[in-house]
Parts: sequence; structure tokens; C-alpha cells
Amino acid sequence: MEKKDIVSLNFEELCAAFAEIDLPKFRATQVYDWLHKKCVKSFEEMTNISKEMCNKLNDNFVIFSCAIEKKLVSGYDGTVKYLFKLTDGEYLECVVMQYKYGHTICISTQVGCKMGCSFCASGIGGFKRQLKPAEMLGQIYTAQNDLGLRISRIVLMGMGEPLDNFDNVMRFLELVSDERGLNIGMRHISLSTSGIVPRIYDLLERHLQLTLSVSLHAPNNEIRSKIMPVNKSWDIDELLSACRIYGEKTSRRISFEYAMMNGVNDTPECAEELAKRLKNILCHVNLIPANEVAEKEHRRSTDKSIIQFKTILEKHGLTATVRRTLGSDINASCGQLRREKIKEDSFC
Ligand code: SAH
Ligand code: SF4
Repeated sequence: MEKKDIVSLNFEELCAAFAEIDLPKFRATQVYDWLHKKCVKSFEEMTNISKEMCNKLNDNFVIFSCAIEKKLVSGYDGTVKYLFKLTDGEYLECVVMQYKYGHTICISTQVGCKMGCSFCASGIGGFKRQLKPAEMLGQIYTAQNDLGLRISRIVLMGMGEPLDNFDNVMRFLELVSDERGLNIGMRHISLSTSGIVPRIYDLLERHLQLTLSVSLHAPNNEIRSKIMPVNKSWDIDELLSACRIYGEKTSRRISFEYAMMNGVNDTPECAEELAKRLKNILCHVNLIPANEVAEKEHRRSTDKSIIQFKTILEKHGLTATVRRTLGSDINASCGQLRREKIKEDSFC
């Protein structure tokens, strides 16, 4: 019999699974607390259960977690980047950033990515597999325990496309916001997507109070299709109309991500075109100086063109910020550390 992934079960499912092996509900309450509040990685660490029950749990369940393979701490701003090893030997990354209002974690949702954006390190080598809810939680639990602090915000902006792992991401959101667990409010969670339009509508149906970030990166189809293949499936008009509806129905401001790449998408004409397209959408634009990736051709825009771009957007009444690059000394943009590790391993 295949062992059940215990951390991915919600409380009701855990109670039902325990009932099947004759464990009472109060045991489910205890175990859920160990898993989601104290974030232990083995049944042996649960000090209020008997050896016999511990054996029973080991026979029936498995705790999928993340082991720290590498940890880098930025000397500039304290940003911490982890390379985690999963139970099946795959690697993934996550980053913990310190802001004035607390600690934010950027987690991965897949190993690799199918979407193939031309500027991104996560998709190099293609897609490996979906992450389980337990493995998304595991990134937070391991980082919290290692750093001895409480994470207050979560961004799903690491490796992978969250809406391409929809059901597992929805379960992760349910578990991480559960009062019995970490209890992180949806308003403190952001989900970033490259623009899988049907899944944006599915997300809308869930009525979640999270912030939706959309990786736009271009003002028109010509540029966007060149750098983001997803645009060939759902073009910029379909994407922006989903965003408009999302904003209207949820009254929540969408955040558009725009990685500034020299000579690709950063001209004043691009800024004018973008401003026109976003005119009727409740939104904010995040301009991100593109991270240069060894295997990729793009270069980051100059500071001057970024400021000019921002000024044009603001002139049209849009709000825009230039995102601070944290952890620039530790390759903090996702996908890069895993690439190094895979290269290292392939030399072994
Ligand atoms: N797959 C999702 C979420 C993960 S990527 C998405 O694409 O939205 C998180 C963010 O990092 C996205 O906005 C993505 O476009 C951006 N990104 C990826 N590579 C980058 C790079 N080299 N420089 C700047 N931003 C990058
Ligand atoms: Fe995937 Fe997002 Fe990277 Fe595109 S930017 S390849 S969708 S992780």
C-alpha cells in the first residue's frame, strides 16, 4: 500500500485517514499541530505519542519535507537563499527577504517550468515535476525553523508556474492560511502567473483575498510572444481582459510585473503603449531591472531608461515602482542556484 502524504492532507482528511487505522480525533489534532505549528520532520519528534503509534504512523504515512542543501546569506541586506533537496533528490530554491514590516518568503511551486520564458533561469532544462502542497509548505517550515523566526508574507514567485499546478497550489493556500497551522492571512499572500488565462478565471471563482501578480513584461503581442511563449496560447488582449474582470469582481488591485530588458521592452514607445493598454485596469506596475542569467542573452535596462519608463507611466496616471533588487550578491533570482547545482552534479 502506498503511504499517504500526511502534510498535504487538510484536518478533515487527516481525521478520516486516522479513523481508518483506528486513531481517534484527538490524535489527529495533536499530529496536525506537530506538523503545521511546530513543523517537525519526523513522527519520532512528536513527544506526546507512543512508540506504537509512531510505528503505525510510519507504516501508513510519509512526511515530505525539504532538506537544506545550501544556504547563502547576503552581506548587503540579510536576504537568505536556500537550495533545498527533496525526498526524491530534486532541487528547488526559495528566498527569505527582510522588509520593514516583517519577513517575506518567495517559494517555488514546481521543479522546473514548462512555460519557456526567454529571460528566466527556472525553465532551463524544462519541467521536472509538480510540487506537492507538503513541499510548498516544507519550504516555509524549514526556513522558519532554520532562521528561528516567523514568516509574515508569502509570494509564489519562485521556480514554476503556480497556475499550472492549480489544485496543489489551492490546497497549499488552504493549509497555510488554516488557523490550526501557520494561519497566514490571504491578504499577505501574492501569486504570480505568466498568464494562463483559463486558470485566472478559475482562481476568480475561489474568491480568495490574495494579490494577483501578472508577469506582463511587454506592451504588445509582437514583443510578448517573442519572450513569453504562453502569449501564443492566450494573447495580451485575452490576458488583460481577464485581469480587468478579476479586478472588477474582487476589487483588488492587480500587480503587473515588468522585467526591464535593454533594447527589448524598455523604450519610451513601449511605455506609451503599455500605459494605453492598462488604462482601465485597477493595477500597479512593478518595474524590475531584469536579472542577467548566464545562459540567456538579455541585458538589464539602464537606470536612465527605467526612470524614463516609470515617468511616462506616471504621466498617464498609472502607479509604478521600481523594485529593489534584494540579495544581488547571492544570485537571489530564482532558478539560478539550482542551475549551478545541476551543473556541479553533472560533473561528478
Ligand atoms: N511563473 C510565474 C511565477 C514565478 S516567476 C510567473 O512567471 O509569474 C516570478 C517572477 O520573476 C515573474 O514575474 C518572472 O517573469 C520574473 N522573472 C523571471 N526571470 C527573471 C529575470 N531574469 N529577471 C527579472 N525577472 C524575472
Ligand atoms: Fe516559468 Fe515564470 Fe520563469 Fe516563465 S518566468 S519560465 S512562467 S517561472
